[in-house]
Amino acid sequence: MSKKFYITTAIDYTNSSPHLGHLYEKICADCIARWHRLLGEDVFFLTGTDEHGQKVENAALKLGKKTKQFVDSIVEEFKKLCKVYNISNDYFIRTTDPQHEEFCKEIFKKVYDKGEIYKGEYSGYYCTGCERFYTDKELINGECPVHKRKVEWVNEESYFFKMSKYQDRILKFLEENKDFIIPEFRRKEIINRVKQGLKDLSISRTSFKWGIPLPIDDKHVIYVWFDALLNYLSALKGREKNWPADIHVIGKDILWFHAVIWPSILMAAGYELPKKIFVHGFINVKGEKLSKTAGIIVDPFILAEKYPVDAIRYFLLREIPSGEDGNFSEDDLKSRLNNELANDLGNLVRRIVAMINKYFDGVVEGEIDEDLIKKSDIFDKVNKEMLNLHLNKALEIIWGFVKECNVYINDKAPWKIGKSLGFSKFNEKRSFSSKEKDKEKLASILVTAAEALRRICIYLEPFIPSSVEKIRKQFGFKKEMFADLDKVVKSVKVGKAEILFKKAE
Ligand SMILES: [Zn+2]
Repeated sequence: MSKKFYITTAIDYTNSSPHLGHLYEKICADCIARWHRLLGEDVFFLTGTDEHGQKVENAALKLGKKTKQFVDSIVEEFKKLCKVYNISNDYFIRTTDPQHEEFCKEIFKKVYDKGEIYKGEYSGYYCTGCERFYTDKELINGECPVHKRKVEWVNEESYFFKMSKYQDRILKFLEENKDFIIPEFRRKEIINRVKQGLKDLSISRTSFKWGIPLPIDDKHVIYVWFDALLNYLSALKGREKNWPADIHVIGKDILWFHAVIWPSILMAAGYELPKKIFVHGFINVKGEKLSKTAGIIVDPFILAEKYPVDAIRYFLLREIPSGEDGNFSEDDLKSRLNNELANDLGNLVRRIVAMINKYFDGVVEGEIDEDLIKKSDIFDKVNKEMLNLHLNKALEIIWGFVKECNVYINDKAPWKIGKSLGFSKFNEKRSFSSKEKDKEKLASILVTAAEALRRICIYLEPFIPSSVEKIRKQFGFKKEMFADLDKVVKSVKVGKAEILFKKAE
């Protein structure tokens, strides 16, 4: 049986439409999921929506909509985002799914029955934007550090999870598992914070109704984070063997919930802990954080109308250093589209297909030139970067080979050989005895380039899947896995040359 691989994105909060940050996270997770499928692993890739909480209730109220009706419309947008950008998730979980709600109640009850939940009273500064309490120390000028607006002093009856009890176990786990959080420096940040002490966690609310009622007290609903984190387990109904998650892909703003709160809940409920948390940075536009209030927004749907989806995927995966903040600009996107995708890759494909058609009527067989093919031996290097979640570096190495192919074709100049042979089609029955060697040489160059492209297709599929499909169609290549890199294909039959990427103005 093949190795299982379970990867998740964070579930998106349904108080507003998808933005570039949501898209980036999904594309990263999709690329990793596709990579592991090509390794032959049994991949389960989960994404979804986080639909409860006061912020959602308020957003619906503002539009005069019923809360469920409001979240349904936002969920459709997130599902559309996945479709438009070719996200290969195996399942889409909604926290309003009955399956999820039942599971949350079950876990709550289980942890409660173990004596790990007690009733108390909570008072503190609460930001409805963040759905969380802040301590005096965390506030900046009395305001929420994220939303930069006033927090409320809230006093309410609440159930508490005994998280403080888990401090030593969490600390030990974080210290022993050096690659639990990627990038590494974020683990150190979390360790320092845990060392300052864990408090018990308020996990129920009475101030609003839009949530899952507690199985033991229906005056309360489950705190949205306790509810949301459990999606990673509730989604596995019927395929529990996928647990633990191999990778949770999340943004840096929610690391505390995933690296401390989530493991504590899992320990209390008797589950294994996830293996890895991959923390991506934020995307800035002209050095500024994406922000609706500041008007810095990039609508992923509008973007997909202006540029090929694969160009956007390629840009984000190549340009944003994995685990760090990065910059988005349309100028940079265009430049990568024109120079790398259209020129380096698109032109290469078009030239090879056109020459095979012109000189060999579309069918060519020949000897492989090892000089070029040897250079495609990058699997170990690229795979290492992918397993370390350096997606941009992996893509850079693959692109290095695309460039090698261009150098090869330019050096060998097959069109010159073709010209010296009088543009004749070799497959026609004529005498070429004196030129037989040149014909073989030309065939060898084109077959070698085609074989290089077959391998490039395998490497690039996780990054630009629909373009790879287009290349394969032109060359008659089947969908392949990494195991197929070892094959050597010495003959090829091409179709019509098609433009892979149109340049942007
Ligand atoms: Zn806030």
